[in-house]
Amino acid sequence: MLNQTTSDALFTQAKDLIPGGVNSPVRAFRSVGGTPVFMQSAAGAWLTDVDGNRYVDFINSWGPMILGHAPAVVLDAVRAALPHSLSFGAPTRRESELAQLITEMVPSIEKVRLVNSGTEACMSAIRVARGYTGRSKILKFEGCYHGHADAFLIAAGSGALTLGTPDSAGVTAGVAQDTLTVPYNDLPALQAAVAANPSQIAAIILEPVVGNMGLVVPQEGYLQALRALCTEHGIVLIFDEVMTGFRLAPGGAQELFGIVPDMTTLGKIIGGGLPVGAYGGRADIMNQVAPVGKVYQAGTLSGNPLATAAGLAQLRHLQQHPELYAQLDATTAHLADGSRQIAQELGLNYTVNRVGSMFSLFFTAAPVNNLEDAKQCDLPAFGRYFHAMLERGIYLAPSQFEALFISTAITDELVDKYLTACRESLVEAHRAE
Ligand SMILES: *Cc1c(COP(=O)(O)O)cnc(C)c1O
Repeated sequence: MLNQTTSDALFTQAKDLIPGGVNSPVRAFRSVGGTPVFMQSAAGAWLTDVDGNRYVDFINSWGPMILGHAPAVVLDAVRAALPHSLSFGAPTRRESELAQLITEMVPSIEKVRLVNSGTEACMSAIRVARGYTGRSKILKFEGCYHGHADAFLIAAGSGALTLGTPDSAGVTAGVAQDTLTVPYNDLPALQAAVAANPSQIAAIILEPVVGNMGLVVPQEGYLQALRALCTEHGIVLIFDEVMTGFRLAPGGAQELFGIVPDMTTLGKIIGGGLPVGAYGGRADIMNQVAPVGKVYQAGTLSGNPLATAAGLAQLRHLQQHPELYAQLDATTAHLADGSRQIAQELGLNYTVNRVGSMFSLFFTAAPVNNLEDAKQCDLPAFGRYFHAMLERGIYLAPSQFEALFISTAITDELVDKYLTACRESLVEAHRAE
């Protein structure tokens, strides 16, 4: 058994002060049971908790730490920025440098606005789409997560799913009315929803590869059909690449699948671990944003000098080292294929979905192409597996409805460590039955 004495004490204290003891729900381990691990420090692939236990990190702060923890290139940039003060509330050179880099890496983005989180990016993007089209409704997909703004907490995936409350209290019926939801990977359902709401849909927003119901892959031709449908009906197509941006390719999922969305939202990797988000797209759409246009959106700390230093350093490194994407792909293929094979050998035949450096091992033998499929998983067995992996020094997302995010710090040796732990943990998770 892990010694978690200090983590347990800190969690007890935190629960008195912070709702559920955490500042984001999925951190609370509710769906897997037990108490969350409090972290002390991290370097490369390794996390160290407050009791001195060490874990190999396969979640990487839910994506941002694509170069592993505390990479010199990012830390040096932040260190250089630090003495120049932490915020000005006035424009800085690095904001344009970061904007320039984003437009180079993601060419569908002609103009971009920096914000502080993925939530802000998505919330702002739909406001702009509504301002641009003069329409009220948005369409999202069941199980896709676009942050915690009211309009998105309808069939919202991930944290909301794990807690068993897909719709949040506090979201008004009025707001819910303007959000249409359809199952992912179901083109007829999408076509029907669009047909039933003629000239009313401002935007369709989606994760082009879904990470928030576990990793779900768009079926052949699905994204192309979606693009064509939006063009035909004057609907703004928003790719939420908060997870996939700069991860699946330098230009994100849109580069990988060759689709040009009208708008894109970004977060996670873009800040190198500091709070940054961004939304951008076609210049004619982005020119709706104040002060040029009439869609208001603002932020006291937006374009913060430390955040832009970290983000620029990490993105530049990725742009200058395209070979890292091949490395991530190969590492993750070993992990995913190895997991699938081990499950097969144990007679479990579990489904493994992977795209680039994201993958999920689903505790079901059936294919997982949408939220309903993902819900068929054996969640108690996943909970036991999660804890068995933790005991063996493998830190996974504490929910079946999450993807794993692989960093460049994962070596072949760590892949072997993961696969050994995976075999033992799958056996342990099913021994109880
Ligand atoms: C994480 C995430 C968000 C929300 O970003 P925050 O920075 O947590 O607000 C939005 N969309 C997707 C696809 C995400 O994975």
